[in-house]
Amino acid sequence: MFSLTEYPLPFRETDLVPYMSVETVRTHHDKHLGTYIANLNKLIAGTRYADMDLREIILESYKDKNAGKIFNNAAQIFNHEFFFNCLGRGNTLIPDLISDVFGGTAEFKEKFKSIANGVFGSGWVWVVMRPDKKFEIIATKNAETPITDGLKPVLVLDLWEHAYYLDYQNRRGEFIDNFLEYLIDWKFVLDNLNME
Ligand code: MN
Repeated sequence: MFSLTEYPLPFRETDLVPYMSVETVRTHHDKHLGTYIANLNKLIAGTRYADMDLREIILESYKDKNAGKIFNNAAQIFNHEFFFNCLGRGNTLIPDLISDVFGGTAEFKEKFKSIANGVFGSGWVWVVMRPDKKFEIIATKNAETPITDGLKPVLVLDLWEHAYYLDYQNRRGEFIDNFLEYLIDWKFVLDNLNME
């Protein structure tokens, strides 16, 4: 059984104002993530997935064409935990380790924005590290997650409408800009990279 208390927000609900409101943070974490967790618990009860950890559920259900709902809910839990961990205030300076790979800070932002603006419908934009240790910016659709392709998540932006609609309505580009300028906790990103 999974529980929302295993996935606490790593910041206070007020920390991201004015770029992400308390209402957005609360709805996104408590209601959306909470629902994915409740759904997953129901779906795996009494199945072979019941005793697996979250990563195992994701990797195993991805290969099982009858387990689409289990995959979607499990992957959304993983993606959201990673997304919330990437958010914060106070460590917003893009580290050289990332910007240098893309030719500079401005170039990194432009590349990220162009991939993000290309997402049609619900999805996620990621910086990932490939097995050869090279960084890449990719998008995934719906609940899809890079770990099924052996890619290590470095940074992620949630581009489902629920991530921004209360604050930005149709101005998704402004949300993407503010994410890049103000909402990323680059300290988490670097610490997470160095854990390998
Ligand atoms: Mn979301």
